[in-house]
Amino acid sequence: MAEFTLELNDDQKQVRDWLHGFAADVIRPAAAEWDEREETPWPVIQEAAKVGIYSLDFYAQQFFDPTGLGIPMAMEELFWGDAGIALSIVGTGLAAVGVLANGTEEQIGTWIPQMYGDANDVKVAAFCSSEPDAGSDVASMRTRAVYDQAKDEWVLNGTKTWATNGGIANVHVVVAVVDAELGSKGHASFIVPPNTPGLSQGQKFKKHGIRASHTAEVVLEDVRVPGHCLLGGKEKLDQRMARARERAQSGGERVKNAAMATFEASRPAVGAMAVGTARAAYEVALDYAKTRTQFGRPIIDNQGIAFQLADMRTQIDAARLLVWRASWMATTGKPFESAEGSMSKLYASETAKKVTAQAIQILGGNGFTREYPVERMHRDAAIYTIFEGTSEIQRLVIARTLSGMPIR
Ligand SMILES: Cc1cc2nc3c(=O)[nH]c(=O)nc-3n(C[C@H](O)[C@H](O)[C@H](O)COP(=O)(O)OP(=O)(O)OC[C@H]3O[C@@H](n4cnc5c(N)ncnc54)[C@H](O)[C@@H]3O)c2cc1C
Repeated sequence: MAEFTLELNDDQKQVRDWLHGFAADVIRPAAAEWDEREETPWPVIQEAAKVGIYSLDFYAQQFFDPTGLGIPMAMEELFWGDAGIALSIVGTGLAAVGVLANGTEEQIGTWIPQMYGDANDVKVAAFCSSEPDAGSDVASMRTRAVYDQAKDEWVLNGTKTWATNGGIANVHVVVAVVDAELGSKGHASFIVPPNTPGLSQGQKFKKHGIRASHTAEVVLEDVRVPGHCLLGGKEKLDQRMARARERAQSGGERVKNAAMATFEASRPAVGAMAVGTARAAYEVALDYAKTRTQFGRPIIDNQGIAFQLADMRTQIDAARLLVWRASWMATTGKPFESAEGSMSKLYASETAKKVTAQAIQILGGNGFTREYPVERMHRDAAIYTIFEGTSEIQRLVIARTLSGMPIR
């Protein structure tokens, strides 16, 4: 087990500097253009694929870093470059993690390469869980998966919403209800292979921020997928649902805790994205405050500005420490007794919203225009308190964990 240290080792520093270089040289210069276009930045994803950043290998290496700091470090640097473009680069990872977490070795080997494609022909993937009436309340999901035993096929029907890369993905991972009586324990995940009839893109959303990332509805009308597209296989699903039925009759806490642990482990990665955006805005504000002169002196000479920058930097560093602690806990198998993963996501996402707003104020009129990037960063930061569990849901999870109340 890796000892906890805040000193990055030489390999980690090398990766961080390499990612920072890509974020500064490739992502940041393209940010304003793709934000205005509100389209997936395919050429940037292709560049990332060419250098090896857009690949399963890269994420696997960071994921298996024994210190736990590989993923948060990578997320912070890429999102420092630009949140919308970075989400287009890492969005496929959401679907890939769904397959890695629940799939068989064969499914992992078959589908994950098709999610990424290669540098000459890049592809993306989508993870489709949310529905118009099932956002925070995942258990109220309505998309159905019915098994057609005669053909060994699953038939999917329903509408998914807010799916990152939804409809433009080569591979969609769709969560659907197999047994409605079991709530979220009756859900299963399915691969929808490329060009499967019945899957179509619904509305593409015009968004407030992260506009370089594609977000859309995914409509499933009698989508038939082969039996082998059920992640983990039917036998495992049947066993899992049988256990859930037994536990439902006798209290049911152990299953809930397993699902909780998964979220606690994934939320710090979103916290790290928020730290990247907050740090980017803080740096712009600091530079501006040192060079902008009013009343014959740089505006940073006013305590009202300098103290804001002091608070911004303090909060960003505190957010990073919470994120690193939670990532280290996840990697080293420490129990999240106080919902430390949710804490890190809550604090980092709220910090990003606050810090980017302060950055606009420090830049004055310039901060309010699209001539400077902080306006975009502030719009982008708003997503962090919404996806992967809203701030209210994080507080609910933390409070219920502390009080020992069940988490539904
Ligand atoms: C840009 C973007 C990308 C996304 N990408 C994906 C994706 O790739 N795949 C996917 O499946 N989903 C995705 N989502 C969906 C996202 O996870 C949901 O938007 C999120 O879970 C919140 O659900 P909701 O929007 O339905 O809000 P709701 O659940 O309707 O919540 C509305 C408000 O009520 C509050 N609230 C709800 N319940 C409670 C409660 N019990 N106590 C207190 N407050 C409560 C919430 O905090 C929020 O403030 C994405 C969303 C966006 C905006």
